[in-house]
Amino acid sequence: SYITVCKEESLKRAQSVQDKIDRDGPVSPLAGIPMALKDNICTMGIKTTCASKMLENFVPPYDATVVKKLYNSDAILLGKLNMDEFAMGGSTENSFFKQTKNPWDLERVPGGSSGGAAASVAAHESIFSLGSDTGGSIRQPASFCGTVGLKPTYGAVSRFGLVAFASSLDQIGPLTKDITDCALVLNAICGYDSMDSTSVKTDYPDYTKALVNDVKGMKIGIPRDYLGEGLNPDVKRAVLDAAETFRRLGAEVEEFPLPITEYAIPAYYLIACAEASSNLARYDGIKYGYRAEKFTDLLDLYRQTRSEGFGNEVKRRIMLGTYALSSGYYDAYYKKALQVKTLIKKGFDEAFEKYDMVIGPTSPTTAFKIGEKAENPLEMYLVDIYTVSVNIAGLPGLVVPCGKDANGLPIGLQMIGKPFSESTLLRAGYTFE
Ligand code: GLN
Repeated sequence: SYITVCKEESLKRAQSVQDKIDRDGPVSPLAGIPMALKDNICTMGIKTTCASKMLENFVPPYDATVVKKLYNSDAILLGKLNMDEFAMGGSTENSFFKQTKNPWDLERVPGGSSGGAAASVAAHESIFSLGSDTGGSIRQPASFCGTVGLKPTYGAVSRFGLVAFASSLDQIGPLTKDITDCALVLNAICGYDSMDSTSVKTDYPDYTKALVNDVKGMKIGIPRDYLGEGLNPDVKRAVLDAAETFRRLGAEVEEFPLPITEYAIPAYYLIACAEASSNLARYDGIKYGYRAEKFTDLLDLYRQTRSEGFGNEVKRRIMLGTYALSSGYYDAYYKKALQVKTLIKKGFDEAFEKYDMVIGPTSPTTAFKIGEKAENPLEMYLVDIYTVSVNIAGLPGLVVPCGKDANGLPIGLQMIGKPFSESTLLRAGYTFE
C-alpha cells in the first residue's frame, strides 16, 4: 500500500505523543492513532510523489491543512500511500512505482485512485487513511476493499496542500474501518480554512452526535437509473437488501428517475480533463519536479520533461482536456459538459426536495482482476458511472460495506446527501455497524 514509510519520523512523533499523554492524559480521540495519507497530500519534509516520475523526489516545504490538523490531534503518520498517477484512474494500476493488490484477493485491484489508502486500512496496515475523491476515488476503493469511505461536501475539508487534479471536483476525505472512526476523523479535518478559497464558512457539527441507531421516518430515494443495465446482479441484490434493511428499521424507501445519469461520464471526463490540462501545466521541468537531462532549447526542455515525466493516462487526459478547451471545440465539448453539470445538480436538487438521502451502488462490479481493464481506458472510465455525479453536484457521498458477492468480495453501499448533510449519512451508515 505504501510508497513511503516514515519509520524514523513516526517513532519520534509517537514518543512525543506518549510523553504528552503521560503528562496531560489523552486529549484527542486520535492521539497515538497510526494513520497514512494518499501520496498527493503534501507533507513537509516527506516525499509527496503523486505516484508519478514527475514528482519522484519532490519534498514539500509545507504541510497540507488536513495534515496540520491531524498532527494537532496527535495522530501518528506512518507513511504515504500508493495511488493512480495524479489520481487519474480507478485501479491504482497507473502508479509509476508499483501495483497495490486487493487484500481480499491478491489477483485483484484495490480500486482507485486511492487504492493504497483503502488497501492499507483493509489490510490493517493503518487504522485510518485520507484519500482524495475527484470522481469516486475514495468511494470506489472503499467499496472494493470493504472499508468505509467518505467524500465530504465540496468546501467542507480544506484542499490547501492537496496536489490539484480537477479543482471544481477534488475533495479530501477519510477511509476508515467503521462509521465511528469516520466521524472522528471528519471532526478532525473539516472546517473553514482561509488558505483554500473554496472552503465554506459554516457551523460544522460534532459528527459523533450522529452515531445513533435511528433511521425511523427517514425518506430515502434510489435512482432507478442506478439499477439498470451493466450492474452486477450480486451488487444489485446487496443494494436492494440494504434498502430493505432501512425499510425494516422504519425508513421510507422508493425508486425515482434520474435519467441525466446517462450523460454523467462524458460530462465528468470533459470537465476533469479540461481542468487537469490546466492544473498540470505547472510541471514544466523549471519550477520543481523532474527535469529531462537532454534538451536543445526551452521548448524542447518542456517537451522532453513532460514526455518522460508523465505516464500514458496523464498524457491522454492532458491531450483530451487541451482539445476540449481549444477554440472551435469549446462550445461543442466543454460548454456542453457544463450544461450537463447544471442538469445533474438540478436532478439532485429535485430529489432532495423529496428525500433526506439517496442510495445506490458505488460501482457496477466488485473488485476486478489486475490487468483486466488496464489496456482499455474507456472501459475503466465506465466504472465511474455511479460516483462522478456526486462530485459534479458537490454533494457528500458515504460508502459503507453492505455485503459480499459470490466470490466473497466486498460490496459497498453508496449514500448521497444534500450539501453539509454528512451527519444524516453517518446516522444512516451507523445502522450497518
Ligand atoms: N476514476 C476517476 C478518474 O479516473 C476518478 C478519479 C478520482 O476520483 N481521483 O478520473
